[in-house]
Parts: sequence; C-alpha cells; structure tokens
Amino acid sequence: NFVSAVVPPGEIGVRFDDIGALEDVKKALNELVILPMRRPELFSRGNLLRPCKGILLFGPPGTGKTLLAKALATEAGANFISITGSTLTSKWFGDAEKLTKALFSFASKLAPVIIFVDEVDSLLGARGGAFEHEATRRMRNEFMSAWDGLRSKESQRILILGATNRPFDLDDAVIRRLPRRIYVDLPDAENRMKILRIFLGHENLEADFQYYELANVTEGYSGSDLKNLCIAAAYRPVQELLEDETKRGQNDAAPVLRPLTLEDFIQSKSKVGPSVAYDAASMN
Ligand code: ATP
Repeated sequence: NFVSAVVPPGEIGVRFDDIGALEDVKKALNELVILPMRRPELFSRGNLLRPCKGILLFGPPGTGKTLLAKALATEAGANFISITGSTLTSKWFGDAEKLTKALFSFASKLAPVIIFVDEVDSLLGARGGAFEHEATRRMRNEFMSAWDGLRSKESQRILILGATNRPFDLDDAVIRRLPRRIYVDLPDAENRMKILRIFLGHENLEADFQYYELANVTEGYSGSDLKNLCIAAAYRPVQELLEDETKRGQNDAAPVLRPLTLEDFIQSKSKVGPSVAYDAASMN
C-alpha cells in the first residue's frame, strides 16, 4: 500500500465546481498547472513561462487541500497518484527505497500526472536528529533524488503536489523543490456561505432558510467541519420521524421528512464544533 490511489482523469469524480470558495487558489492552480498541462505548446519556449514542477498546499486541516488536488487532476486531464506520508513512514520495511524508485518510474510513464503527497511533512519533514531511523533517512534521500530526476525532464508533464497542515516542519530541501506555496485558508462568512450552498443545494430546507444566517453562526468552521455539521443537522428530522414511529407505530409506507431549519444546525453545533479552534486550544 505504498501508493494509496492511481486514478485516471475521467474517474476522479471531483471538479472545481464541487469546491466552494477558494477562488484565488483555483485561479492560481489554473495558471500554474491546468493551462500548462492542457496546452504544453504555449509553455515550451523561453524561461519565463515554465510549467511548475512542485507546489505546496498548506493550511489548517479540513480546508479542502485533498479535494483541490483531486479536482485539479480532473481539470488538468491528468492521472492522479496519491501517496500519504504517514502510511509510508509507518510501514518501515527494507524495500522503501526500491518502492520509491518504482513509484517515480511508474509515474513518468503516466504523464500528464499529478503526484499528490498528503502529509508531506511526515514523509519529508525536517531531518530528525539523532533518533531518525536509518531507513527513514535513506527513503527520504531516495525520494529527493528520484524527484530531481523527474524535475530535470522538462518536457514531461509531471507535478508533485504536496499538502501539509504543518509547513514549519518541512525541510529546506523540500521547500526548495516546492517553489510555489499556496495558502488554503479557513473560510470567512461569505465563503462559508458558498461552501454551504454546495452541501445543502439539494436538501429540503425550510422556505425562509437564509444561508447567511448559518454562515454567521459557524465562525471558525472549516469546509470539512461544515460538512459534518450539515450531516448532523440533516439527521435530526430522520431521528424525529423514527422516534415518532416508535411512539405511534409505522403507519406510513412513504413517510415524509420535515424540512431542515436553521435551528437544526444550531442544535447540532454542540456535536460538531470547529475542529481548528479545538486544536489550537489543545495545543496551549
Ligand atoms: P487535511 O489537512 O485534514 O487532510 P484537507 O485540507 O485535505 O484536510 P479535505 O480532505 O480536502 O481537507 O476536506 C475534507 C472534506 O471536507 C472534503 O472531502 C469535502 O467534503 C469537505 N470540504 C472541505 N473544504 C471544502 C470546500 N471548500 N468545498 C467543498 N467541500 C469542502
């Protein structure tokens, strides 16, 4: 399970339109990745417009970095290879170097391809002093040199896209190889509204439901938190109906759920809070 997924572009199932907000990030990725992959002939001359070989997405957890990576592959018409730093480093076996080599030679045959390295800090974090495992060090060196091998093949359309919540843990050598760094921020109220529209667009909402009211009471929520809050809220009418059936017996063959109200979301906040604020509190 060295590589967690290899997916051809048509089968990823996520597009930019499925991602709420993050307009600036999408715009930057369009210029840096989508255009050069779709129209390589426009980027092959001169030195100014060189396709970007390494990008780092960084920012708080649950802000859509993985989602962006997948959607990017769809939009760029690229194969998508996904590897996760922590699964690699937790499965130490002597073959890690061999597998790294295999990964990169496999990837170069799949171009255009995006290699997404989630938790890039745990794979390629700052060199870990005296206690660093010898195998970790060898693996990291192999990864770096294979990566450099790819970078030198200018004609190939291969992008390494790293993601991390902990950019400060990254080694200088990695930072240098990821020359473009894009901050994926928590959404503000307006952007929370855009994200909520994606999750709730097909739900049965009360007639005067106001998105801005929900956006205003979800300060600090990431996209992922918002999704979990919506799921918790959507469960409430189901639960009520089931309770009602327990009391009165199941009479209706096609029971109708009541619409979701703002109150459902407010009541669900005690179950699903903003995870980033929670993290920050636990670090103090
Ligand atoms: P982590 O750093 O914890 O890996 P991440 O930044 O990679 O998090 P994702 O895994 O992409 O976050 O997001 C988790 C889920 O949250 C997504 O699958 C998606 O359902 C939802 N989500 C997050 N941000 C957005 C967004 N802007 N628009 C739509 N959905 C989002």
